[in-house]
Amino acid sequence: MHRIIRLAAIAAIAAVLASCSHKVAITAHRGYWNCEEAGFAENSIKSLEMAQKNHFWGSEFDVHITSDLVLVVHHDAHINGKRIHTHDYADFKDYRLKNGEKLPTLDEYLTQGEKGGTVLVFELKAQYDKQHEDYMVDKSIEALKAHGLYDPKKVIFISFSRNICERIAALCPGFTNQYLEKDLTPDEVYAKGINGIDYHYSAFDKNPEWIGQAHKNKMSVNVWTVNDRDEIKKMADLGVDCITTNEPILVREILGSKEKK
Ligand code: MG
Repeated sequence: MHRIIRLAAIAAIAAVLASCSHKVAITAHRGYWNCEEAGFAENSIKSLEMAQKNHFWGSEFDVHITSDLVLVVHHDAHINGKRIHTHDYADFKDYRLKNGEKLPTLDEYLTQGEKGGTVLVFELKAQYDKQHEDYMVDKSIEALKAHGLYDPKKVIFISFSRNICERIAALCPGFTNQYLEKDLTPDEVYAKGINGIDYHYSAFDKNPEWIGQAHKNKMSVNVWTVNDRDEIKKMADLGVDCITTNEPILVREILGSKEKK
């Protein structure tokens, strides 16, 4: 009986120590949090600037391609009912984000990104064919190099497209490259040469052992998009490396000294 109590006590201490030693990174989702409330728009230059000023570890943004092959920063695949990939960039010249900014090109967004202060969490959106996805990856690498941002300390890649992740893995060794689609276990993702996962909260809630499985392969583990206090605590305790959130101030408060800077 005493031995069982002692072992339980040792296990409890070990759990607390493991919990305290693990630093968790915060990624502000789509540039900033509660953008509309704050008077910005998600994926705007202003939203990235605010993430930089607040020194969140990461700031996420989404990249699409127009029919005349301009890379633009936007979340949805369409703007005012027009599909981005079937329209030229000029077709969006009058479009304004909710904070009055025009649709940022990747080049304009990276000009702000150069100012530093946050890791650029670069989401390459899945396209309708491999040719466009490959082109997007190649142009993205070119743009990052042109802005002095082609550096694994300054940028990580995420995508729902396995083709995009596999191309990044082949062309950008040393960069964190996270697969977003929760259709594969971490072991299966690793077997495809992809070194990270960024799964929805529900995936880790259902399969908490995936975090250990990923870490055994030295993969990075990111979870999206966690805004609820209890869910934030749960994910931090499970040992994720990064929490993507619309509520980075709340995550900062909950993590305290466990926040990875
Ligand atoms: Mg995204």
